Amino acid sequence: MPRPDLGPKPTLGYTASILARFAERRTDEAYLAACAADARCGTFAIGGELVVMRKTANGPDPLFGMNEARALAPVAETVFLGLAGEAGRFGVALDPEATKALKGREDLFVIDLRSIAVQGLAPQQLAPLAEAKALLQWHARHRFCANCGAPTKVAQAGWKRECPSCKVEHFPRTDPVVIMLAIDGDNCLLGRAGRFAANMWSCLAGFVEPGESIEEAARRETLEEAGIVCSEVKYFRSQPWPFPMSLMIGCHARATNSSITVDREELEDARWFTRDETALMFTGRHPEGISIPPPMAIAHHIIRAWVEEGDGVFS
Ligand SMILES: [Zn+2]
Repeated sequence: MPRPDLGPKPTLGYTASILARFAERRTDEAYLAACAADARCGTFAIGGELVVMRKTANGPDPLFGMNEARALAPVAETVFLGLAGEAGRFGVALDPEATKALKGREDLFVIDLRSIAVQGLAPQQLAPLAEAKALLQWHARHRFCANCGAPTKVAQAGWKRECPSCKVEHFPRTDPVVIMLAIDGDNCLLGRAGRFAANMWSCLAGFVEPGESIEEAARRETLEEAGIVCSEVKYFRSQPWPFPMSLMIGCHARATNSSITVDREELEDARWFTRDETALMFTGRHPEGISIPPPMAIAHHIIRAWVEEGDGVFS
């Protein structure tokens, strides 16, 4: 099959951050205070799943002055994200209920981060928002020491929590998830979970378990969810996925059998699609109206790479 023309490659959501994280400044309180007070400083305001943005003539702007952000709603946590050039970037965790109430304000957009990514926001804003969301969500869920149960304290501008009781240090975690496209010659395996939008099919995915390599996790998940045994697994690319704090690890996997057994606990359905047929999903011309995830999601890119390159994804 000739390489189909799917147009210019879209940007993968939440990637290509312009921030330099400057980890060495996280303990420099005088620097951080000066940075937050600087007029160029920008602060992202997030309450639970919701991001607060200002309405401007040029569209939604997610950056507030530090005091402005803090005045939106009660603040649970403030974290230092890094520098955009010379300008500091911070994130504040607003009280989730008070953030919902901000939806009534005419001057603000209050919307979840998935929708923002689907609707489009410049990568220089979207990637730091993902960093802020994942880090603040970690704080919200890790207020107590996992070792002794005592309340923990924030340190290093939000990049650590310390237990005053047993002295154990806790660091922000990222949960690895494998997301893979199993390929059998001219066919790829897509699945549908009940929570998906109607007619949307995607790659299979699942958390990497302790003691597993990425390749082993990709093989296990494909076997568990669809009964397909895979041999070679080739890493493609990855994507931060701040819901709440995952890292999606995209792969292509070579299937060695074709008879599907769907795990109905995990999936509504799974089936093979030819490369020609899959190409039609990118242009909205699939005869059954089947679509794939939007360009902001790594699944879109994993599937697209195979439609464009075929077996070349393994080279
Ligand atoms: Zn402790």
